[in-house]
Amino acid sequence: LPGIDEIRIARTAQRIERKLIAVASGKGGVGKSTVSANLAIALARTGRRVGLVDADIYGPSQPKIMGIEGRKPEAHDSKLVPLATPHGVPLLSMGGLVAEGQAIAWRGPMAAGALGQLVDANWGAADTLILDLPPGTGDVQLTMIQKHRPAGAVIVSTPQDLALIDAARAIDLFQKAGVPIIGIVENMSGYACPHCGEVSDPFGQGGAEAAAGKLGIPFLGRIPLDIAIRTASDAGTPPAAGNGAEGAAFISLAGQGKD
Ligand code: ADP
Repeated sequence: LPGIDEIRIARTAQRIERKLIAVASGKGGVGKSTVSANLAIALARTGRRVGLVDADIYGPSQPKIMGIEGRKPEAHDSKLVPLATPHGVPLLSMGGLVAEGQAIAWRGPMAAGALGQLVDANWGAADTLILDLPPGTGDVQLTMIQKHRPAGAVIVSTPQDLALIDAARAIDLFQKAGVPIIGIVENMSGYACPHCGEVSDPFGQGGAEAAAGKLGIPFLGRIPLDIAIRTASDAGTPPAAGNGAEGAAFISLAGQGKD
């Protein structure tokens, strides 16, 4: 039988082996939650055991996107037990812990404490946790970086300059803390015609790719503005869970993560 020290070492090693991938953006509404959910599902489809943490404490949207709105997680041995979703990715969200419509007006330390409970939950066999962070560079992001040491960060931006300037700030925060930037995803890049699927570029595209080049970080790919992505997300069936063309961009995104 292993001694208590060996058990402790094994437990510590187990904890370190679970990789945290932060998904961040400089500002809200750029599709960070949409990318987090679809990336988690697409990674699970490649055979990884993936969990999703809705750390967007001030605006939790994952229960709706993942199709389990209104369900509350329970705690066992003072640890939260993630909720199963129909898409093979267990989820913990602040959305499940507060009454619907109730404002989450917490100060930094409370938000940070809540995030700790979501991350240090009973994740079982999950080897990868995708963290959907709140937008910006505030308390929750800082605590997450300092306490939970993510293995890397994916930055979501739209092609517009304003979103990119904000994204650069988020990138700077991770780089200063020594968290590798896995790359930038350009979301809402071009408009996919709902009739023929052709992608046009009313606002231009390639801004995030150019910014990635300038900042010397990898560009992971672009996802068009596609009404089917919005309706599928609202219906609790993210496109990456299906076999349609809309999900393909997310599946290809997940395929890029070698480690
Ligand atoms: P954030 O987490 O950055 O605030 P969300 O993921 O909640 O952004 O997205 C904001 C809104 O835009 C949601 O209604 C979502 O369904 C929609 N959306 C996100 N990405 C796309 C896309 N590529 N095409 C169409 N709608 C999108």
